[in-house]
Formats: sequence, structure tokens, C-alpha cells
Amino acid sequence: MFANATKLCTINGFTIRVDPSWLVIAALVTWSLSQQYFPNVLPDAHPNTHMTMALAAMVCFFTSLLAHELAHCVVARRLGVPVKNITLFLFGGVAELETEPQSAVVEFWVALAGPAMSFTLAFGFWGLTIVAGAAPGADPVVLVLSYLALMNLILALFNLIPAFPLDGGRVLRAYLWHRSGNSLSATRTAAKSGGILGYVLIGLGVLALFRGALVAGLWQMMIGGFILMAARSSYQSHLARAAFDHKAVRDLMERDPITIGPEITLADYVNRTVLAQGVTFVPVVEDGVLLGHMDRNVLSGIDREHWGSTQVGDVFVGLNGENSTGPNVPIQDLMARISKTNRRKFMVVQNHNLIGVITLTDLIQYLQASERAMDL
Ligand SMILES: [Zn+2]
Repeated sequence: MFANATKLCTINGFTIRVDPSWLVIAALVTWSLSQQYFPNVLPDAHPNTHMTMALAAMVCFFTSLLAHELAHCVVARRLGVPVKNITLFLFGGVAELETEPQSAVVEFWVALAGPAMSFTLAFGFWGLTIVAGAAPGADPVVLVLSYLALMNLILALFNLIPAFPLDGGRVLRAYLWHRSGNSLSATRTAAKSGGILGYVLIGLGVLALFRGALVAGLWQMMIGGFILMAARSSYQSHLARAAFDHKAVRDLMERDPITIGPEITLADYVNRTVLAQGVTFVPVVEDGVLLGHMDRNVLSGIDREHWGSTQVGDVFVGLNGENSTGPNVPIQDLMARISKTNRRKFMVVQNHNLIGVITLTDLIQYLQASERAMDL
């Protein structure tokens, strides 16, 4: 996530990054504040004043957002959860933790810290409006401050909606986790609530579109879609973590895989394994010695008319570090390798001997089976 984010600064050891998409929202906020909101509430002021107010409000609003994320991070670090960084992006800010909180109690406090900060800021800005209001001619300052108080209040309340991955959804997950002791089923329930909120926001967005509120409607639909996707993917990654925890390649590989000899022709390979067995990735073995593998890519590089006269031994891919893995490699490491290299099929090799084959399909099937087992 956020591969294009650039580092802005470091605060208290936390790296603050900005994703290019943030510029869009920053510009949109400044534009709507300077052209609509402030001209409405302070009609007599000069456009330059409106622009200055808008810029000040935008900067302070995003600083507030940063404070919200920093609160999550400070509490996380205090409770032993390492923090990767904070990234500002299209839909606000996100504190990326290096690992998931190890207990429901930790999760609860980390989740609550952000909204607590936003409530505090809302209250603080509201207090400042009273102080500033006492000074003559301070209307622009008071209006900016009350806007900031309102936005921080909205930020706190919106984040407390019990829908994962919002903070309220994390509090909900912590509660369910604490009650049942099962973090996976707690995550699933919390993710469902996130899905519901996502659909509700998309529905509200569609209604707004029908009423002619184009920008607001599109915005609600985008946030809804984002929450929907985030809820789904965080549940999926949680499921994968729980299912693959303490599992190694050896546990999930296919033992006794189909193999072929180098002397057979490509036509035989196609007929006997690809068509008859439905398998394309096949280790090539001669006299018990593993030589390499055949797969669809190799086959597609050779004209069909030569399949009958070409032997597997002439074209197969030799055994190398890329198409093989050891049996004791943790599944999590293999998953990381799959997502990095896009290679999905591996021969499992021990002491130069083939002991199995493992593919991404095997992992997904195992994941689906674990999920079904949870339903029982
Ligand atoms: Zn938060």
C-alpha cells in the first residue's frame, strides 16, 4: 500500500509520509473552503481573506489528522506494537503498524487513542474560539477555529462508527476478541460491519447523485468503496496469518507429485499430463534425479507442429533457486515470495531430491478449507 508515498518528516521517531493522492484532497478542501464555506459564513470579507482562511484551516485540519494518527502510534509503541509509519492519503491518514496488536486489550487502547485525540482537539479549538471571540475584529480567526472544532468532532465521531477498519470497528473487534478469545472470528464479524457501512455509504452516495449533489455523492461512494475493500482485505490477510501461522511448506505441499522423464515428447507431455491429469507444472526427473520442470510457458514458446518431435529434455527449465523451495520454509515467507516474484508454483527439494510440489492454488484451497472449518 502507498508505494508512491514520499517521506515528509520524522516526528518522535515516526516517519510521516504523504501519498500523491493526498494532494487531491488537500486541493479540494482548500478550494471548497475558499469558494463556498468561508464566503457563506463571512460574506463581507475579501476573497484573499477567504483564501488565507482556507489555507490556514486546511493546514490545521491535516495537522489534526496527523495528531490523531500520532496518538494511535504513541499508544501502540508504548504497548509494544512496533509502528512502521504514518501516511496521509486521499481518505485521510493511516497509521501502519508492523504487526497486529497481540491482545484484545492492546487493540482496544490503540484504537481508542485516535478518537480521544480528536475529541481533545475539538474541545481545544472550541475553547480557543471563546478566547479569540473576545478580541475585536477576530471573526476570520474565530470562524477558522470553529471549523476546526467541528471537523475534529466529526473525525472523532465518524471514526467511532463500529465498522472495521475504522477505529470503532477495531474497538468492536477488541471487544468480541476479548469475549470469545478468538481473534479471527472477531475480525470476521468486525469486517462484516465494515462491509455494511461500505454499502450504506455507497447507497447514500447514489441517492446524493440522484439529488444532484455530484461531488458529495461521488465522494461518499468512493469512501464506501474504500471501506468495503479495506474491511475485506484486512479480514483476508488476518485469515491468512491465522491459517498459515506455524505452517511450513512441508505441511501443505503435494507429496508424490506427477513427474515426467526428459525423453518424452512435448505431445506426450500435453496428452498425458496437461490434458489427462489437468497439471501443467511438472517436475522433470531422470533415474530418480531431479533435473528441472516443464510448464505452460515453456510449451507456449514452441510451435505446435514441433511438439511431436521435440523432447522435454531439450526445452525444460533447469532446477534453480527460483523454481524450488525447501520443505522447512515458513508458508508466510513463501507467500511473501509469491507476491514479490509473481511465481506461483515451486518444486520442494531436500538434499537435491524432489519431495513435493507446492502452488498458490494449494495455499488458497487450504485457506478456503480453514475458513469453512471455522463456520462449523
Ligand atoms: Zn484512527
